[in-house]
Parts: sequence; structure tokens; C-alpha cells
Amino acid sequence: MTDQLLRIGDDIVAIHAVVTDEGVTLIDAGLSGDLGIVASALRRAGRSLDDIRGVVLTHGDADHIGVAERLRVEHGAVVHVLRPDADLATGAEPSRSVKADGWRLGPTLRFLWVGLLRGGLRTRHLQEVRPMSDGDVLDLPGRPEIIAIPGHTPGSAAIRMPSVGALFLGDAITTRHVLTGAERASIAPFSEQPQQTLRSLERLRGLPERRIFPGHGPEFRGTADDLLEALPR
Ligand SMILES: [Zn+2]
Repeated sequence: MTDQLLRIGDDIVAIHAVVTDEGVTLIDAGLSGDLGIVASALRRAGRSLDDIRGVVLTHGDADHIGVAERLRVEHGAVVHVLRPDADLATGAEPSRSVKADGWRLGPTLRFLWVGLLRGGLRTRHLQEVRPMSDGDVLDLPGRPEIIAIPGHTPGSAAIRMPSVGALFLGDAITTRHVLTGAERASIAPFSEQPQQTLRSLERLRGLPERRIFPGHGPEFRGTADDLLEALPR
């Protein structure tokens, strides 16, 4: 079987799964009420939650760690996060509060409403994570390759999945601004150091993957170079 990419959730909060003969790797873990939608997506692909070997986090924010702790405890998945975000994921460091510019009421309420529906207000932090480093190729289905792209958070990661031709950027960028509703590629809101993100993304130049997925918003069709071209400066 060729490796398969599943997109779970929606354009407001997305989780991705790479399904291979060796099992499943999850990229990000959504909101804390998302276990049911992950289970049914895997069931449709002929797999179960027990096939998840690992969860790779693009960063440690609450809307990305969602069901990771339950998958670790109840299904034996190992949860990987870049070292600088480990304390965010475990709750040793309190949630970040970064001010967002230019928010609009409608899209903001929609984001909060989805959070409410999918249990996002009850954060379940991880009791244990496996810290990863820039350049790691993880021993997980799909062989995820880790590229550090600090900026949104200090431990933000780009995750390359060559077997499905995809690159996952978490909240370094968004293609649908959760607070303004604008549908175009831009640096994501709540970023600690947006200028640092722009510099970090330069590291992705030349990568061949043609599908780029943010944590929030639809897929960006194109390479990292195309993305860098599209981003407003
Ligand atoms: Zn997010």
C-alpha cells in the first residue's frame, strides 16, 4: 500500500494522519474533544487508534495537543515535540498570552465556538513527551523529518512527510486567519516573533513537497518557495 494522508477535523482546527503499512503517525492532536473524529477517520481507512505509533507536534499550544495525552496513555503513542516547546506541552510553562492585532468578531466567535464544541476549553497537558531536535528523522511511520522554524513559539517545527509529498507548518503560517477570516497565506496570529518566523521559513527553500498544510485553514498548493513568494512582507 502506498502511504495515505488523512485530513481530520476542518479548516478551523485540522489534524493530519499519515497511514502506512507500519502504522499511523499523527501530526498535531487537535482539541481535547477530538478523539471520536480521529477514531472514525482511521476506521474509514481500515485502522484504529491503536495503530497510532506516534504523535508529532508542530508546537506546544493547547489547540494542537488536544488528544495527545489520551493517545499516549490509552493507546501507547509516543508524543514528540521540539525541546523548547516541551514545557508548553506538559503545562510546566503556563499557556501563552500573545495579543492579536486586527481581530474581527465573526471569525473570532466561530473559532471560539468550535473550541467549545470540540472540548478545546479543557486542556489536557502531557505527562510525558519525547523531545526532538532540528534535523531529526523520527523512527515513525512515514519517517517524519523535523526542521526547526522558531517564531510562532520557540519550539515550532516544520514536519516533512516525503512519502505523501506534504509539509506541515503548524501555526507558522495560516491560510485562513482565525480572527479576521481572511483567506490567504499569512503569518499566523498569536505569534511571539513573526519576523523570526519569516527568517525561519527561509530554511524551507528548495524543498520538493508541493502540498503545505497549516494548523488552521485550507491547504496551500505549491512549494515552500511558492509560499514564501505569496507571504505579505
Ligand atoms: Zn493553533
